[in-house]
Parts: sequence; C-alpha cells; structure tokens
Amino acid sequence: KERNGDEPEFLQAVEEVAETVIPYIVKHDIYYGKNILLRMVEPERVITFRVCWVDDSGEIQVNRGYRIQMNSAIGPYKGGLRFHPTVNMSILKFLAFEQVFKNSLTTLPMGGGKGGSDFDPKGKSDNEIMRFCHAFMGELFRHIGPNTDVPAGDIGVGSREIGFLFGMYKKLRNEFTGVLTGKGMSWGGSLIRPEATGYGNVYFAEKMLETKGDNFKGKNVVISGSGNVAQYAAEKVLQLGGRVLTLSDSSGYIYDEAGIDTEKLAFVMELKNVKRGRISEYLESYPNATFVKGKTPWNVKCDVALPCATQNELDEADAKALVDNGCICVSEGANMPSTKAAITVFHNAKILFAPGKASNAGGVATSGLEMTQNSLRFKWTREEVNTKLKDIMSDIHKSCLEFGEDEDGYVDYVRGANIAGFVKVADAMLAQGVV
Ligand code: NDP
Repeated sequence: KERNGDEPEFLQAVEEVAETVIPYIVKHDIYYGKNILLRMVEPERVITFRVCWVDDSGEIQVNRGYRIQMNSAIGPYKGGLRFHPTVNMSILKFLAFEQVFKNSLTTLPMGGGKGGSDFDPKGKSDNEIMRFCHAFMGELFRHIGPNTDVPAGDIGVGSREIGFLFGMYKKLRNEFTGVLTGKGMSWGGSLIRPEATGYGNVYFAEKMLETKGDNFKGKNVVISGSGNVAQYAAEKVLQLGGRVLTLSDSSGYIYDEAGIDTEKLAFVMELKNVKRGRISEYLESYPNATFVKGKTPWNVKCDVALPCATQNELDEADAKALVDNGCICVSEGANMPSTKAAITVFHNAKILFAPGKASNAGGVATSGLEMTQNSLRFKWTREEVNTKLKDIMSDIHKSCLEFGEDEDGYVDYVRGANIAGFVKVADAMLAQGVV
C-alpha cells in the first residue's frame, strides 16, 4: 500500500489474490519466507511513452502510451492493449497482475503483461485510428517481440487496430512474425480467436452448471457490454439453448423480453462492429425492446449473469438484486467486473461465481494457440481450435475445483483460480532464483 497507494484498482486486485494465496503460502514451506508474493506484485518493467499524432483537422494530439511487463517466469509477456480515456497506471497494473494468474491457468507457456493508451477511439475516423496506431507502435516496437512480449487486443483494440499496429511493427523491424495476436485470418490470425473469450466464458459457465446437474437450456441470461466478449458470449448462449435478455454499452442497457435471438444478434454485431453505433439504436429496429439509460442490467430477473463490459460494473447492491431475483450463476467475461463486496454477496448466497481470470481465460488461451500456429507456420481448422479451447476451459475448471472446494462441497472459484495460477508461477520463480 505504501508503494502503490494511489492505485486503487491495482490494490483491489492484489488484495483479492493475497487474501486467498497467503493462507496457502503459510501452510507450504516451499513458498513460506521467500517474499514470493511481494516479488509478484512488482512489475518486472514499466514503460511509458509519448504518442504524438495528427488529427483530421491537422492539429497535433498527444497521448500517453504504456506497457507493463509484469512477469515472465513461465513465458514471454502476454496481454492485451486497451485504448480508452480511463486508462492509467492503476488500471493497467491491475490488468497485468490478473493476466499473470490467468495465463498460468491456461496451462500454456505465457507470462503476463498489459498495455494501452488514454487515447479515445470513439468518434475518430479510420485514418485517425491508423495514424494513432502507427505512432503508438513507433515506440512500442522497441520493447516487444515474438519471444519477448506479445500484445493483443482489449477494450478499444479490435482487429482493425491490430492490423494497423502489425503493419507498422513489420515495417520497422522488416520481419513478419507472430508479435501480436488477434491478427486477420489471411495474415497469421487463428480461427476462433475473435469468438474465444465469449465462447470460453460460456463453456466455463456450462462446466459450473454441470456440477449442479444443470445446463443452459431454457435459461434466462443477462449480459452486459456489447463488444467482442459480450457478442460471442451471447452467440454461444443461443447455441446452447439459452435466452439472452440484455446487452449494454456505456450509455445504458437494452432489455428485450422476447429474447435477443440470432437475427437480432447479427443486427447488434453489424451495429457495433461496422457502423460503430450505440446500443440504444437497437430500438429503431426492435421497438418492443426497452432502453434503460445510464444503468447496468443487473436488476433484470435471470438465471445466469455474464458481466462482459468493464471493471467494477457490478457492485454489492447489484449482486443482492441478482441473488434476490434467483440468479444461480455469475461468470465474468470482463476483467474484475464484480467489486469485492459483490463477490462476498455471491459467496454468502453460495451461488456459482467465476472470476474473470478463470472464466475469460479462453481469449488469451486462443492467443497462445495463435502463437503456436505462427511458430509452426501452420493453421488449425475451426473445429480443432474450438476443441482445444473447450478442453482448456475444462482444465481450468478442474484446477479451480482442486484448490477451491470447501469441506461442505461449495466451490470458491476465486480461491481455486488464485492458488492454481500462483503455484505454477511461484514454482518457476523459485527455480530461476532471485532475479
Ligand atoms: P470492447 O471494446 O469490444 O467492448 C467493451 C464493451 O464494454 C462495450 O460495449 C463498451 O461500451 C463497454 N464499456 C467499456 N467501458 C465501459 C464503462 N466504463 N462503463 C460501461 N460500459 C463500458 O472490449 P472487449 O469486449 O474486448 O472487452 C470487454 C471486457 O472483457 C474488458 O474487461 C476486457 O478487459 C475483458 N477481456 C477481453 C478479452 C478479449 O479477448 N477481448 C479477453 C479477456 C478479457 P462503449 O462502446 O459504450 O464503450
């Protein structure tokens, strides 16, 4: 706290891990007394840099770029880039810290990192986005590489931005390598990568429901967000026979009592990915739905909730509303969307709750599969990648059970994910000595 007092999101993420991992360390001599957690919370390297670019009116704009290289004990740094005006050191350090545990859980050899900029892509032209991405990579290229640090997308960074970033990296380095993931299909991308985080979250929730002899058929599902993760979570829920009732963006949520079916979801994908419009425009085509301005969807009665927008979007009151309305399962697609108090409500009510570092790990896992395909100069089929993704989500679920099951049979997935993620990284750090 003394060192990071002005970084509330980072402290929140560290506290959650410390609360579950310290009791484990105390009981295990190989970790005790080695300051292992203290070493893990200090990034191996933090890079900040100036990004200057020229907007369409000819004015020079200045943004701040970041890359947090958190931990490389089990592989090259790996984690997304976020472009959003709220980006700051605290948010990126929390994301990088979570990423270390998440990447460890995937069973693939990836360390943890995160980066981005306070650049706001909303309302910018394609040319402005390109000039910004090129300027950003004009500095970042010095610090990354296919065996050093492999960034990917996150909020505000999708396939368009990855394309511009990759183009500049390739020009500056004069080499074509798998330095970024989330690439287009014709230039090194992996099938299923766009779908992976949303699909993976639903596969994880399916595994949780299975422990209760249940599944998605006929379940009412509330989803927040309408970006990459939310869209493909919705698609998979529909494929498994569930009903999607809501989607949202930062302006509010839409509630469609009749259900957001495949055709309506295709409309949302076009609206968000091509027209880059607002979720409220859904009502122009589907006037029977409701738009609730400035609110999150957690008051809507449901069986399953999938928070897929952003950090701290679901607080204690929201959690109580979900539990009171009969929700039996919450699986996080976003990173740290539930506040600490909200998680306590879920645990006290003994409902199924999965933290993002376990349930949204499908995205980075499939990025890992993209790296493997790039190294092999080979491409797996859609079915092959999807099967691997499903297997990885199932393995993560098993790891959570191994370390998270209480004596009364309730599974604390937070503890399970934290300890399972910790053990692998800690073992590697101990083996490599004090470096
Ligand atoms: P997108 O940019 O595609 O979508 C983000 C969505 O969240 C948009 O609907 C956006 O609305 C909404 N949102 C963003 N900020 C806020 C806010 N402050 N309040 C309310 N809504 C907000 O991002 P992704 O779908 O890729 O990412 C969503 C979450 O999933 C993030 O937490 C990310 O870290 C996490 N994640 C993503 C992975 C991936 O593979 N993409 C992998 C693992 C985790 P608006 O358009 O109005 O801003």
